Amino acid sequence: MLYEELATTYDRLESTSSRLEMTSILAEFFRSVDASELRQVVYLTQGKLNPDHVTEKLGMADKMILKAIVDASRLPESYVNDLWMKEGDLGAVAERVTSERVQTNLFSQPLTLERVIDNLRGIEGAEGKNSQTKRIRLLTSLLHDASPLESRYLCRTVTGRMRVGAAAMTILDALAASFGVKEDRQDIERAFNVSSDIGTVAESLARDGIKGVRGIEVQVGRPVRSMLAERLPSMEEILKKLGGRCALEYKYDGIRVQAHISGEGVKLYSRRLEDLTDNFPDVVESLLSSFKGQEAIVEGECVPVDLKTGRLLPFQEVAHRRRKFGMEEAVKEYPVKIFLFDCLKMDDDDLTLRPFPERRDAMERGLEEGEGLLFSRLEIVESAAEAEGFFESALVDGCEGIMAKSLAENSVYRTGNRGFLWIKYKKDYRGDLNDSFDLVVVGAYTGKGKRKGLYGALLMAVHDPESGAFQTVCKLGSGFDDVFLGELPGMLEQHRSSGPSHLLSTRMEADHWFEPAIVLEVMGAEVSVSPTHTAATGLLPEGSGLAVRFPRFTGKVRDDKSAEQATTAAELLNMYRGQTSVSDSEASAKF
Ligand code: AMP
Repeated sequence: MLYEELATTYDRLESTSSRLEMTSILAEFFRSVDASELRQVVYLTQGKLNPDHVTEKLGMADKMILKAIVDASRLPESYVNDLWMKEGDLGAVAERVTSERVQTNLFSQPLTLERVIDNLRGIEGAEGKNSQTKRIRLLTSLLHDASPLESRYLCRTVTGRMRVGAAAMTILDALAASFGVKEDRQDIERAFNVSSDIGTVAESLARDGIKGVRGIEVQVGRPVRSMLAERLPSMEEILKKLGGRCALEYKYDGIRVQAHISGEGVKLYSRRLEDLTDNFPDVVESLLSSFKGQEAIVEGECVPVDLKTGRLLPFQEVAHRRRKFGMEEAVKEYPVKIFLFDCLKMDDDDLTLRPFPERRDAMERGLEEGEGLLFSRLEIVESAAEAEGFFESALVDGCEGIMAKSLAENSVYRTGNRGFLWIKYKKDYRGDLNDSFDLVVVGAYTGKGKRKGLYGALLMAVHDPESGAFQTVCKLGSGFDDVFLGELPGMLEQHRSSGPSHLLSTRMEADHWFEPAIVLEVMGAEVSVSPTHTAATGLLPEGSGLAVRFPRFTGKVRDDKSAEQATTAAELLNMYRGQTSVSDSEASAKF
């Protein structure tokens, strides 16, 4: 297959923000792809060569890519550099330059997918002394034969910033449509959730149909997409939702890890499926010494402890120190304990479809508590008074709140999904004010006065999984300290775009725009109806949106969350409806 077919599809995807339209563009395209190439096509559409849980080594530094663009085009370096300063997007620079380049390519060959993959694999695998030169050479060779559009996407791919906006759920919809199995969409999603590998799902579907997809199982060594929690503002509501009786657990303020234990050792994955094994040697050690079976997948929260007092420390604090001291010293100075709270697989048993009490039981039987490994503190409650008591002790013990968990027959591990089988209740939810949100940076305003030369405020958004859009919800200007303000430009630079992302729905202007990537935790005083923001627009009457009032950054960068895992429009609407300042009749009369 020719790479040009992919580039043309990406260009079409980029011209729309409608998830439905993207789905139909992709479905039509997938139909034309041979089963043997579909896996790679799907990865490439996400700007990758591998499934999510394999650490990508494809990314090239901007300067290296510029060098390849100059070499392939034979245009003066200063000219290409100037263009880059103006455009900010290397893909756009490569496209422009390719259309203007000195025509010396008499022997140029059309780019096949196979050749693109070969060269990208070479770039990924280049190691040692001459690796930079080798990478530049491999990219130059592709650019030499590429059309302007192909150049755009080749460069985007090696920067690691594809920007076509084909989220996994859109790709799954498109696969279901193109193979005529829309009614089996749930099975396709489950296969993706248990394998975290969209390429495997696509290839099984193309080769063996829906039967192949149903055969994809939970496997040690392949992370499962995490179950997520909903929230409710009071213990009374939580108990009501969970049938009057539920398990409560401490909500530890750390980093979630999914541990895969086997004869080969332990692998730790983050909620974003990154391999964290090397970051927590102490946790690996604890898991190995406490495990009694053959193989297992368990989940828990890693929390640093203060050596002197034994108290749990907020993770953020340690992240700051780590920057100062370096990893090794941090591990010594702040040992980490893991608090296990779930078990997805024990030996031969896939437990993801079993009720929570059974999973907890399997976890307690399969592992032994020790100094560095504990089971999350749990209590079964039947009244709000009991729950409040447990909540108070969670706070006293240094936790950020509690997790309420369903004990019902259907309390499965809902892979990759948010739902009311787990409900979080944090200290900031008490009362109708002060709720916290995980919001995505989509724009920024140039600072003035004391913030001259820095960003003065950020434009923040929620995510709407239904439409795939990001929707603005507030301008965030407070809660930043000087250190963070200084770090912000560097953090955001690689996500800069020349205008609003095509995935962004906005009525706001901004001085700088960014692709949705960075998630910040923000406290807000209230959710209100707004004519200027677009959050929850699809769920509200025409022209209305929701806004978070008096937003304040809590200091937490949620780098454990991707932009798609930020607070959703529906959650925000629930919060708006749940506010005691909004009377029931007002909330339901309006929406
Ligand atoms: P949030 O990050 O605010 O959406 O809250 C959900 C997160 O709480 C999970 O992803 C875990 O990292 C964390 N957590 C802490 N303690 C528990 C627990 N006992 N059960 C489940 N999740 C927990």
